Amino acid sequence: KAMQRAYLFADPVSHTLSPAMHNAAFAACGLVAYYAARHVRPAELGAAVASLRQVDVLGANLTLPHKEAVLPFLDSLSAAARSIGAVNTIINRGGQLHGDNTDAPGFLAALAAAQAGNSDTAAGSAVVLGAGGAARAAVYALRSQGRRVYVINRTLSKAQSLCADLGGEARERQNVPWAEVKLIVNASSAGLGNPQETPLPDFEFSSLPPSALIYDMVYKPAETRLLREARAAGLSTENGLGMLAQQARLAFMAWTNCQPAIEVFLDALSENQPQARVE
Ligand code: NDP
Repeated sequence: KAMQRAYLFADPVSHTLSPAMHNAAFAACGLVAYYAARHVRPAELGAAVASLRQVDVLGANLTLPHKEAVLPFLDSLSAAARSIGAVNTIINRGGQLHGDNTDAPGFLAALAAAQAGNSDTAAGSAVVLGAGGAARAAVYALRSQGRRVYVINRTLSKAQSLCADLGGEARERQNVPWAEVKLIVNASSAGLGNPQETPLPDFEFSSLPPSALIYDMVYKPAETRLLREARAAGLSTENGLGMLAQQARLAFMAWTNCQPAIEVFLDALSENQPQARVE
């Protein structure tokens, strides 16, 4: 009998922190199993997903560029995955592949942790920057809390179609009522190539309520220009490491009967190990 296992499918696959988190979680749960990152190119995705039906495979995570492309290869989808149109977690249910999205609840869990002790930001209008898969997860999550959500994106038409699907309001930057905004979420990949130069709008942080929280889904660098400038303006800030840990924990719990503490995942991230195993 082969060892139980789960995978990350990505292209490129280098520098992923997911194996460190999941292998720490298997160890914490006393499970003899492993998690491996696999380099899967777009043309190979269908075959890679089909291999997940094997009896010893728990499932897989997906990241760039597969989260949306994977949908046709799955047997069922959660309501969240269907609405968002993106799957980051596949669960092998006895040969049937179920697609879920743990980015959305993972984001909410990380947000709740970041807002602990600051209940003022837990409601009220939010601005989401970006209109890709991560932005769709954020808008879905925030709308599920009944919050008003404005979406700003370089390509306005993409923000408009996101909002038509998920219920936000696509806006040009100058048409956002900034004084009402309690939360800004960066879900764009702007500036990832050059962390020193984040081509996001220059925010007038002084127009925001002083209690506003600036949440950047980016975790590398740990402090983006957006967060640095927000912090300098006296606002609360949070990076994407908490969300990375929370989405991993939710995927892990879907694959196993174990519920490791979030610290297991956060500690694996802070140790910042390179991937434990690549196949
Ligand atoms: P996508 O490629 O699907 O979307 C990228 C978005 O960023 C698009 O809206 C795009 O705008 C915008 N964008 C890219 N470059 C620029 C630029 N130079 N100027 C302005 N806007 C730009 O990516 P994802 O949604 O999958 O991921 C987005 C980010 O979220 C990534 O940084 C990713 O690492 C992070 N993320 C973090 C997670 C976590 O757990 N912390 C989980 C998932 C994602 P346009 O529509 O105009 O092209």
